[in-house]
Amino acid sequence: MPTRSTSPARLSPANDATRPDLLERCRAFTAPGELRAAGLYPYCRPAQSGPEPISTVEARPVVMFGANNYLGLATDPRVVRAAAEALVEYGVGTTGSRILNGTLDVHLRLEAALARFQGRDGAVAFSVGYLANLGAISALCGPGDLVLLDRLAHASQVDGCRLAGVRVQRFRHNDVAHLERLLRAAPGRPTLVAVDGVYSMDGDLAPLPDLVEVCRRHGARLLVDDAHGLGVFGATGRGVAEHFGVEREIDVLIGTFSKSLGTVGGFMVADAAVVEYVRHLARPFIFTASLPAPLAAATLAALRIIEEEPERRARLWRNTGRLQAGLRAAGFDIGGTVSPIVPIRIGDQARTFAMWQHLSRQGVYVSPILPPAVPAGRCILRTALMASHTPEQIDRLVAALQEADGEA
Ligand code: PMP
Repeated sequence: MPTRSTSPARLSPANDATRPDLLERCRAFTAPGELRAAGLYPYCRPAQSGPEPISTVEARPVVMFGANNYLGLATDPRVVRAAAEALVEYGVGTTGSRILNGTLDVHLRLEAALARFQGRDGAVAFSVGYLANLGAISALCGPGDLVLLDRLAHASQVDGCRLAGVRVQRFRHNDVAHLERLLRAAPGRPTLVAVDGVYSMDGDLAPLPDLVEVCRRHGARLLVDDAHGLGVFGATGRGVAEHFGVEREIDVLIGTFSKSLGTVGGFMVADAAVVEYVRHLARPFIFTASLPAPLAAATLAALRIIEEEPERRARLWRNTGRLQAGLRAAGFDIGGTVSPIVPIRIGDQARTFAMWQHLSRQGVYVSPILPPAVPAGRCILRTALMASHTPEQIDRLVAALQEADGEA
């Protein structure tokens, strides 16, 4: 048996005085401790329940407006049962990469179901949505190419570009004219334009018809990360491209299982040749353990419910209408949201904290979004709706925000 030291790891000073200590930055990072001491630390608060309209957080019941469980499927008994049955049948983990021992029949069934749902040739499932963006972008793009990214595109797209080593330019948020100027200025390079379908903090949509048109005109390919659109937008819940009637025009569609499907995982759907290519070149597909069977089976069950129970989407939209109207009537600035993601724009960080703290004391859970997630002075309280929220819960959120506004 190899022996190992039992002494705990310590941030002890390095003993070479000429070399600056790498870990010094950790000792200097005192902001979280200061917030904790002031009772203002808003992150990583442990919950004792799943994401339900009434959740238990830090052992207290709260009305939950911080989850992305849009259709209420994360705790649906049928989804939970599918996971439990797969758990018994396959065990907990796969202990390997999809490309070697980690592919299960349930992965292939899930990929076939996703492709069929989206009306495309094929799909690749990733272990999380973050890796779907990393995998697709880094497999498809390389140093000789160009990626044009919306200024507010999700961090996983930015990180995918870093992994690809591709040249990146950002265009102003939803500014198709700016995108076109960048396309004109960089002819002769294979180009990917990458956007979110629904922007996760502001709740607004990418102008897909215009983006499709500009991409076609300039020979660029279009990637849409529809993490927050799947199950929410479109007559049958296929997402923002269905909403705009441009599904066939999206070259690469990325999605996550961690929002309306209520599980964990991610996927890409595209034409057969693209799927084949990404499956064999994406390092985030090859060099990590595959999606556990319970998650794949639960996602299949959730997808079936999305297809069979459109009334969930209808309830979500009724709730969205109620919250947006209530907040506007109360004079709050909710920006350009057209989705169940409803940001309350506060601006100042101290005021955002104070309002968050008031809501928290009232048992209303919302997410404070602070720099660097938003620019300084543009802080928001992010709320997101579920189909399973009641009208009374929504009215309670509006009333609690009004009180918090008065007190802050
Ligand atoms: N894209 C967007 C737009 C997202 O909001 C998120 C999750 N915050 C992801 C991708 C990553 O998805 P996952 O949680 O499955 O890693």
